[in-house]
Amino acid sequence: AQTQQIVTRIAPSPTGIMHIGTARTALFNWLYARGRGGKFLLRIEDTDRARSTPEATEAILDGMRWLGLDWDGDAVSQFERAPRHAEVAREMLARGHAYKCYSTQDEIEAFREAARAEGRSTLFLSPWRDVPEAGHPDAPFVIRLKAPRTGETVIEDAVQGTVTFRNDQLDDMVMLRSDGTPTYMLAVVVDDHDMGVTHAIRGDDHLNNAARQAQIYRAMGWAEPVWAHIPLIHGPDGKKLSKRHGATGVMEYAEMGIPAAAMRNYLARLGWSHGDDELFTDAQAIDWFDLSGIGRSPARLDMKKLENVAG
Ligand code: GLU
Repeated sequence: AQTQQIVTRIAPSPTGIMHIGTARTALFNWLYARGRGGKFLLRIEDTDRARSTPEATEAILDGMRWLGLDWDGDAVSQFERAPRHAEVAREMLARGHAYKCYSTQDEIEAFREAARAEGRSTLFLSPWRDVPEAGHPDAPFVIRLKAPRTGETVIEDAVQGTVTFRNDQLDDMVMLRSDGTPTYMLAVVVDDHDMGVTHAIRGDDHLNNAARQAQIYRAMGWAEPVWAHIPLIHGPDGKKLSKRHGATGVMEYAEMGIPAAAMRNYLARLGWSHGDDELFTDAQAIDWFDLSGIGRSPARLDMKKLENVAG
């Protein structure tokens, strides 16, 4: 039997510099695909029109090119796929996996305030979930997922293991806003599905999103990608990486004169290891890279190690 071709992707939001965390995630996805005759795709997640800029998109492309991470096909703009996202939301509606919610922002806020004051859960459960179409007003609505209310949503993650979420702690997420634009959660699932992504390798700040996204996959009857949520990069003191620890933008390293090959070697080892090997060629990294070599605790940025590698 023919085995399925591996498809990975990097899906950065163009809202600033290219962070070294993004560069490392891109590298892991690239190594995984290149070592397996797979495809590595680039999707620019530019749905947030207020925060996305063309300069930030250029910065991502520059960073990818400097690092030598070639992607297959053209970079995809998520924003341009908005009609397709809306189409899927409507399909879910038609199939009873979603519903129109007419609750206004003010009503939701009032509910939350009252819940807080009374010490109840602030999780908003829409009163529109089971109201038949005939009882709907002629008013703006959002489309929400009809998520399971009981039981658990379980994610099998190649790095984190089995991760369990209680369904009574997840609300019916909004997938399509009242202006017809998709939310991030819907857009990612539809794009990954349509692009044939088989492995979603990304930062573990997206682990909670995976539960939400899995609910959409399951409602649509689509195959989920293999999830692999990698611990974020921390500073040498173990705290969340920030400017005071060193350069956080990948092009800052280019400007420092670090060779791209040294940067690749260094990034590969931020959170992934292959025995005691510290230095390897690109061919070895491609050959050796595997999800099982990714650690469960956050990697620490160490500028000295990088300088050693850059020698
Ligand atoms: N756009 C997201 C980010 O930049 C990544 C989404 C994903 O990898 O699924 O953090």
